[in-house]
Amino acid sequence: MTDSQHLQTARSIIAEIIEPSAIEVDRGIYPRAGMEALGRAGLLGLLSAREVGGLGLGLRAAAEVVEQVGAACGSTGMVLCMHYCGAAVIEQHGARAVREDIARGAHITTLALSEVGSRSHFWAPGSTATPAGDRVRLDADKSWSTSAGQADSYVWSSQPLAASGLSTLWLVPGRAEGLSFPAAFDGLGLRGNSSAPIRAAGLLVPADARLGPDGGGFDIMIGNVLPHFQILSAACYIGILGAAVDKAAAHVARTRLSHLDQTLASLPTIRAYIARMRIKTDMVRALLLDTLSAVEAGRPDATLRVLEIKAAAAEAGVEVTELAMRVCGGAAYRKEVGIERHFRDANAATVMSPTTDLLYDFIGKAVCGLPVF
Ligand SMILES: Cc1cc2nc3c(=O)[nH]c(=O)nc-3n(C[C@H](O)[C@H](O)[C@H](O)COP(=O)(O)OP(=O)(O)OC[C@H]3O[C@@H](n4cnc5c(N)ncnc54)[C@H](O)[C@@H]3O)c2cc1C
Repeated sequence: MTDSQHLQTARSIIAEIIEPSAIEVDRGIYPRAGMEALGRAGLLGLLSAREVGGLGLGLRAAAEVVEQVGAACGSTGMVLCMHYCGAAVIEQHGARAVREDIARGAHITTLALSEVGSRSHFWAPGSTATPAGDRVRLDADKSWSTSAGQADSYVWSSQPLAASGLSTLWLVPGRAEGLSFPAAFDGLGLRGNSSAPIRAAGLLVPADARLGPDGGGFDIMIGNVLPHFQILSAACYIGILGAAVDKAAAHVARTRLSHLDQTLASLPTIRAYIARMRIKTDMVRALLLDTLSAVEAGRPDATLRVLEIKAAAAEAGVEVTELAMRVCGGAAYRKEVGIERHFRDANAATVMSPTTDLLYDFIGKAVCGLPVF
């Protein structure tokens, strides 16, 4: 499959399944049909190596697909984003059998990093891993995991077993005994992505479920998870923004003030808002493309760009979708223009960790020459 083939395939699944079910998914239904269709087409294995049956494509191709999916359905876009983030870790550190399952589209994974205790400081889990014979016992109160109760596995953080360091990562099977899901997800936006808490009480995994070295979780989070999550979540939100701009422009171009015999787009104020929305969206998309180029070329500013891109997409997301709501008036406040879903979905970007304020802290440190982490 070439680069353009993966996008063509994604577009036809979006048109046939993901877009038509977006409103139902927004009612809180997990996008199982869309994810299964992406899996059947090989797109859940987009980042998987060819040697395990995957497409062997990179972050740029994944970002293209996530952006398109996010534009049609933010919930499905985020489920796919988190799947790719988990799959990238498993691809680097996981067992071959799981890598093959992901490559053939038979396995959805996700990240279970955030915890009730350390909250958005995902790099500092308080949850534990303790030896239990030839196995390892995991106990945790995870505060959020996209695809909670739905995924086939969780890339899971705990305090190290014996080594020093902030954390160790594990692959926890989705149906492991000892896992429970204390509350269903009922959020403002991304309502279909099942971002619920997970509890582990006396959960046993084999010792070889460890992903990477004991105590090596932080390095994997920074070296692997961070670039994937920052870039792919930004791509999802840019898809959401683009959809909001397109729908707002179409609404103001067709909606008439009949007594004046003119459209909303005849009003200079409305046109100026549409222009601001387009500029912001194009700016952040250009930054995404530059971030991908920086990462691919190993440019010295790659880490800075990776930190910037999600903060930029999140800030633009709030501003652009708020303007979309304004220019479409009361019609947008109802569901008829389809913009309020994008507005609600876009607002999750600010609080998904690293949150925008955490990113400002990291970026400020980097720019001032201070140690970032
Ligand atoms: C839709 C959705 C999906 C999610 N999916 C996943 C997932 O798949 N896996 C996962 O592990 N997690 C996931 N999360 C959790 C997410 O990554 C964050 O951990 C969570 O949103 C943080 O919420 P909190 O209430 O714990 O924030 P808190 O940590 O309580 O933060 C509250 C405020 O304090 C600010 N703050 C905290 N520390 C600092 C600081 N040092 N400097 C400046 N400001 C600071 C934050 O920016 C925020 O504004 C998801 C969250 C959402 C909303």
